[in-house]
Amino acid sequence: MLQDKLGRPLQDLRISVIDRCNFRCTYCMPKEIFGKDFSFLPKDQLLSFEEIERLAKLFVQLGVKKIRLTGGEPLLRKDVTTLIDRLTNIEGLEDIGLTTNGVLLGKKAQALKDAGLHRVNVSLDALDDDVFQSINDSGVSTKKVLDSIEQAQQAGLVVKVNMVVKKGMNDDQVIPMATYFKEKGITLRYIEFMDVGQSNGWNFDQVVTKKELFEQLTNHFELEPVDPAYIGEVAQRYRYIDMDTEVGFITSVSESFCSTCTRARLAADGRFYTCLFASEGLDLRNLLRSNLDDQAILESIVPTWKNRKDRYSDERTEETAKNRKKIEMSYIGG
Ligand code: SAM
Ligand code: SF4
Ligand code: SF4
Repeated sequence: MLQDKLGRPLQDLRISVIDRCNFRCTYCMPKEIFGKDFSFLPKDQLLSFEEIERLAKLFVQLGVKKIRLTGGEPLLRKDVTTLIDRLTNIEGLEDIGLTTNGVLLGKKAQALKDAGLHRVNVSLDALDDDVFQSINDSGVSTKKVLDSIEQAQQAGLVVKVNMVVKKGMNDDQVIPMATYFKEKGITLRYIEFMDVGQSNGWNFDQVVTKKELFEQLTNHFELEPVDPAYIGEVAQRYRYIDMDTEVGFITSVSESFCSTCTRARLAADGRFYTCLFASEGLDLRNLLRSNLDDQAILESIVPTWKNRKDRYSDERTEETAKNRKKIEMSYIGG
């Protein structure tokens, strides 16, 4: 089994299929930076579906069992259902997921399901419309996303909702979100605000930790812990005691989980990164377009993983958060 320097296997691959987005979330793609003049990748610099499929097959040979499509906004990528259809046919790949802001999900849910997708994670940071619109900065209402979630469920997709919590931005939405999704029987996961990229002005004071979130929640609901489904499961899971619905926490900042991190990332332009906070990536697009055979490409990926020592979140300090050169989330893939 392929393992990195810290004994971690390569099991999950996140693929960013596009660096563009129809939102301008203030903590991810703030308008001041991702404005009208921002130059996104031209189409010919994005990996084609053939290229993604070929790489996915190679990664599965190396041990990848799960692939998540993300972005930017993955549903903005034209014909993304075709890609899902191709990926679902890869032997040995056990699971495909997709993370979306939900705007286009309602319209595309049935086609995604028909292409073989089973699960979607929808990002929604507030239930209150004013709060949500001030975060997405694109005039999209909560109703639009909530309707999409219903349509996705009607199409047979299993939906989980992810909420990034940032102090002063949406911490007053923690309980309304829990109440709504508990009622709907949908798993909600709170994500600690991270210092990804260079544009979101992150500092420790803006992080609402799992401990704080848990305190808020247990003032309103009774929760019991749920055992992890597998080693290295990222979310810490709990169940409301009066029903089967779960709530989870992704504690990337306050209780980092680098020691079990089996995730790699393929950015929209084909660069391969071994950590969300990496500064450099391996240019697989260039290798693919140099007409190398599969063996030669594997010979580049294998040593990259074998040499991996990343454990950024375990080592995070104010200093690294501020000064390290990091890649934007919308490009590397959340
Ligand atoms: N556009 C899609 C979406 O929003 O679901 C997919 C890409 S987005 C980068 C993936 C996830 O990353 C979203 O749930 C988003 O809230 C989360 N995210 C973005 N910036 C983050 C940050 N600084 N800290 C924690 N999560 C972040
Ligand atoms: Fe777009 Fe997702 Fe980033 Fe929001 S979090 S700007 S929806 S990529
Ligand atoms: Fe994995 Fe890097 Fe995140 Fe640690 S900081 S959990 S190594 S992606």
